[in-house]
Amino acid sequence: MYDVNAIRAQFPILSREVNGKPLTYLDSGASAQKPQVVIDAITRAYSEEYSNVHRGLHFLSNLATDKYEGVRDIVKTFLNAPHEDDIIFTSGTTEGINLIAYSWAMPRLQAGDEILISVLEHHANIVPWHFLRERMGIVIKWIDCAMDGSLDAQAVIDAMGPKTKLVAITQMSNVTGTRVDVKTICAAARSRGIASLVDGSQGSVHGPVDVQDIGCDFYPITGHKLYGPSGSGAIYVHPDRQAEMQPFMGGGDMIDVVARDTVTYNKPPMKFEAGTPGIVQTIGMGVALDWLMNVGMDNIAEHEADIATYASAKLQSLNWLQVQGTAPDKGAIFSFTMAGAHAHDLSTVLDKRGVAVRAGSHCAMPLMEHLGVTATCRASFAMYNTKEDVDTLVSALELCHDLFA
Ligand code: PLP
Repeated sequence: MYDVNAIRAQFPILSREVNGKPLTYLDSGASAQKPQVVIDAITRAYSEEYSNVHRGLHFLSNLATDKYEGVRDIVKTFLNAPHEDDIIFTSGTTEGINLIAYSWAMPRLQAGDEILISVLEHHANIVPWHFLRERMGIVIKWIDCAMDGSLDAQAVIDAMGPKTKLVAITQMSNVTGTRVDVKTICAAARSRGIASLVDGSQGSVHGPVDVQDIGCDFYPITGHKLYGPSGSGAIYVHPDRQAEMQPFMGGGDMIDVVARDTVTYNKPPMKFEAGTPGIVQTIGMGVALDWLMNVGMDNIAEHEADIATYASAKLQSLNWLQVQGTAPDKGAIFSFTMAGAHAHDLSTVLDKRGVAVRAGSHCAMPLMEHLGVTATCRASFAMYNTKEDVDTLVSALELCHDLFA
């Protein structure tokens, strides 16, 4: 039995007030709040266990290194990756995708080669490919979603051609909550010798992930959306693709021997991790992932599905609210607009009621254009949200309707 109140009690920030009202935090899609166990781990890491990692021989350096390196195994388990060496630490999904663009795609792709992406993508899975378009003549091929936000896997597969070298698709839209059938897409890509990148920044938060089952080559995650610290993240890279990668950041830690005229590199994954990493952030991410696995990703998925069903029905019953994205099986992320009110105005009024939502284009301008909107308000629900949070949102929206209609 999932006890959401017991979960909430572990997040100190959820008991604070905002603008004189109890906080209703519906912005976890941007960044999730942190449970006490993660906050304590960060404090402990700085107050008792801190030093730089890898290159020291003293006690604290060894301790910090053990804690930090131990997280690779935790991420491996969380993603069901075959081996901990398949895990490269990053500062988040943005760095993970840029790493693939610079380390894998740039050395291997040529002018005219194609990268397939969907219109659902976050800018983190668009702009790095624009770099390759601008600098190398790579062609970006776009797959549109339907107006309910759903993405037809077959349309992605049909777009794969002899020039396609990479398909890079989100597992879950951060705007509409659409889930994508990435497994079918990755299987089709693999059978054609096309590499696949699944953006797991949202998808990994809302249910169990198995990168072997998905069959992808690259799967980045974001620590701060997974209830861990900001500045933490990781990417799973299939060993065959890892062997094809060249390091793009040079510096300490990623080398074996540096001479005046030559350089040799450390073994992967450290070959791709130059410089002092986010030591405490990564340790905190490990604690968050362990804690999540203990709660159970299946349990979280079930709880959030219940919230999503409830919120869908409630929001769609407001006939003056336009919900953007109503695909079946969507996650608990809701974007909406209201005629006569800008998304920023809505979010300001909601904030006065203690309801934190995000307003704007959500780093997804091509999707905004496709949906015919300039901005939306987005309420994103998480493991600690309740049906009462939905009710609070709805009554605050009713107030907006009274004010703006
Ligand atoms: N991909 C998706 C689907 C996202 O929602 C986000 C963040 O909102 C990102 C990528 C980028 O994540 P980060 O900013 O943590 O690197």
